[in-house]
Amino acid sequence: MSSIPLSQQASASAPADLRQPRYLEGLNPEQRAAVEATEGPVLVLAGAGTGKTRVLTTRLAHILATGRARPFEILSVTFTNKAAREMKHRVGQIIGEAVEGLPWLGTFHSIAAQILRRHAELVDLKSSFTILDTDDQLRLIKQILQAEGIDEKRWTPRHFGSLLDGWKNRGLTPDMLGEEDKWTFADGRAKDLYALYQQRLQVLNACDFGDLLMHNLTIFKNNPDVLALYHRRFRYLLVDEYQDTNVCQYLWLRLLARGSGNLCCVGDDDQSIYGWRGAEVDNILRFEKDFPGATVIRLERNYRSTAHILGAASGLITANRSRLGKTLWTEDDPGEKVQVRGLWDGEAEARFVADEIESWTRAGGEHAGCAVLVRASWQMRAFEDRFIMLGLPYKVIGGPRFFERAEIRDAHAYMRLVRAPEDDLAFERIINTPKRGIGETTVQKIAAAARSARMPMTEMARAMAGTDEIRGKARTALGVFLRDLDRWRDQAEAMRHDELAELILDESGYTAMWREDKSPQAAGRLDNLKELVRSMGQFDTLEAYLEHVSLVSDLDREESGDEVSLMTLHAAKGLEFPLVFLPGWEETVFPSQRSLDEGGTASLEEERRLAYVGITRARERAMISFTANRMIFGRWQSVLPSRFIDELPADHAEAKSETGYSNAGPGFEGVSEPTDAFRSSYDSPGWKRFKAAQSSAARRDPGVIEGKATLIDSGKPSRWNRGDRVFHMKFGYGTVKLADGEKLTVAFDKAGEKKVVASFVEGV
Ligand code: ATP
Ligand code: MG
Repeated sequence: MSSIPLSQQASASAPADLRQPRYLEGLNPEQRAAVEATEGPVLVLAGAGTGKTRVLTTRLAHILATGRARPFEILSVTFTNKAAREMKHRVGQIIGEAVEGLPWLGTFHSIAAQILRRHAELVDLKSSFTILDTDDQLRLIKQILQAEGIDEKRWTPRHFGSLLDGWKNRGLTPDMLGEEDKWTFADGRAKDLYALYQQRLQVLNACDFGDLLMHNLTIFKNNPDVLALYHRRFRYLLVDEYQDTNVCQYLWLRLLARGSGNLCCVGDDDQSIYGWRGAEVDNILRFEKDFPGATVIRLERNYRSTAHILGAASGLITANRSRLGKTLWTEDDPGEKVQVRGLWDGEAEARFVADEIESWTRAGGEHAGCAVLVRASWQMRAFEDRFIMLGLPYKVIGGPRFFERAEIRDAHAYMRLVRAPEDDLAFERIINTPKRGIGETTVQKIAAAARSARMPMTEMARAMAGTDEIRGKARTALGVFLRDLDRWRDQAEAMRHDELAELILDESGYTAMWREDKSPQAAGRLDNLKELVRSMGQFDTLEAYLEHVSLVSDLDREESGDEVSLMTLHAAKGLEFPLVFLPGWEETVFPSQRSLDEGGTASLEEERRLAYVGITRARERAMISFTANRMIFGRWQSVLPSRFIDELPADHAEAKSETGYSNAGPGFEGVSEPTDAFRSSYDSPGWKRFKAAQSSAARRDPGVIEGKATLIDSGKPSRWNRGDRVFHMKFGYGTVKLADGEKLTVAFDKAGEKKVVASFVEGV
């Protein structure tokens, strides 16, 4: 008789492959190896769509399922909150309720904020510290530059802000700055200003984004006992999109990983697109050096895209010189070649994209399967206009985000001030919003006095309101405002925070201010305020809500319904869609003007990686487009197709002609007949003539305007009424204010009010 317990007998007699858990089943051998190599450092270095994120999720589930660690002992860093939610969801699907939250799964910033709240006192903060957004940050810098008498025109707050970010991304505190860093701003004062800025933050009990990780580093370095705590806590560390970590994040990971040594990073050097924010692709390249004995696993099979899409992307990226080089293959159908279209202008491009989406949905596709990925957010408006006009459902991911709108920031400032009286930035923001008769001079007076007494502005205001320092109307108004604040603070004890928010917005006169506002945006702002109160209600406390707000990156938003996604290429990282549009592939748009002006080859290569990221988001179809004319910041410019179009291998990409120019890129010599009047002047049979025609169009400035207007309006009498929406070649969209025969006065959305000739505009 065997003495082996029954359970072990069963497992011992079962063939190995039958004992394999379900979640390991569909993985290929390399993926599986990456999942099962739980101990020691592991790097998965592989191209787009090869299942890196899937490996990470499965690995997390595997660690939990095999009892190697409990949910709170695993640190998983993903790129966006959305990715974190997705990961949680997927792990939950594998192991069910055992997930129990996974408290340490999130973005670098959210995890660093959690850690910092626990040990804030070690860097002289209180655990209730506020996280400043870029707007607050700029306001603070401005104050400091003003107080220090620095010429803001010559030394702009924005410039200093980007220097600050740069230092913080490298984990450099003021005392760590070198001699040469000093001279990067205000004639050698950079270091002092940085130190002043940090002091101000401390007084405000606040952090900027860069501080979150930097303070973590300081805490870990100065307090070995705290670091040891996290060494014991984090038995496994998992990192997605490792190619985009900056120096500070890298140091943070390295410190934390010293505990268990079980660090698994996945990434793709070809998708490193955050160099401009301090990401160091070298981090991934030196992994083996930093973590000796690391297991490096390469995945080569792409499961996402068709062969043509993969071929086009792989062909394009070979133009980059600094890369490791990888093999990628797929068993997928070749599918259709990547489509390249040339259009007349942005509007035509938006029409084209919307038409394609409509035929996709007519054929049974979902809106949610489509994504429009742009290089810069200004490109979105044309698409939004078109989608709204057609009633095509869409969502903007990472546009001007909800939480950045003025009315939302104002409302937050009220809430912040109620919660934390020392929040001077909030105080300044709302002290006279809505207008209470407390003018700039009074505010400056309070600010200066508060600064020299090193006390919060609210407190100083309270002191001054009782003296003759402030007189008349301002004094009365200030008194009322301070009493309001006290009352709201009392009410905060007894009321739900969303109800309190509503009450404050009403009692402060803020809602009324927008109700009385006659501008076209006012109604939208009131809607946003309602939406704000609603979204606050989803959190248990005001603190939880504010924490959420300061951490949702602009790449995040809630998912909902069947909608086309409109977002920047940066925001699209890690995502996939059956149908992807890549508009605006023009020199100066993509690659961007900035990358062409500054940064040389390195910048251009980063742009090319961004193009690679864009194409590889597509599963079934990718459509690239460019225009001949582009309105950039209110000015018409004639533009050239992107060099990236030339770099697409002709085997995998083709130009089609029904909507636009057909002669794009190498191997795209064939041209069909132009289909409308515009193109009749560009019926040249080759790429070169297309470009030549473009530049001559640019020279014919007024001619083009007249030409276009006459062509469109030929035969139609130009009769306009007040309120009509029109489009002008040079000034863009606008509303007719006054029509006097051929003379129109139009309020243009961007260019302001102008007098124009009726035949130069078209109806929209
Ligand atoms: P990116 O570099 O864009 O972040 P990735 O390497 O993280 O891509 P995933 O997003 O994990 O790739 O996977 C791409 C797609 O391939 C997903 O739809 C995923 O479900 C699928 N996939 C990955 N591995 C397999 C597999 N072994 N069998 C079937 N499908 C797979
Ligand atoms: Mg991924």
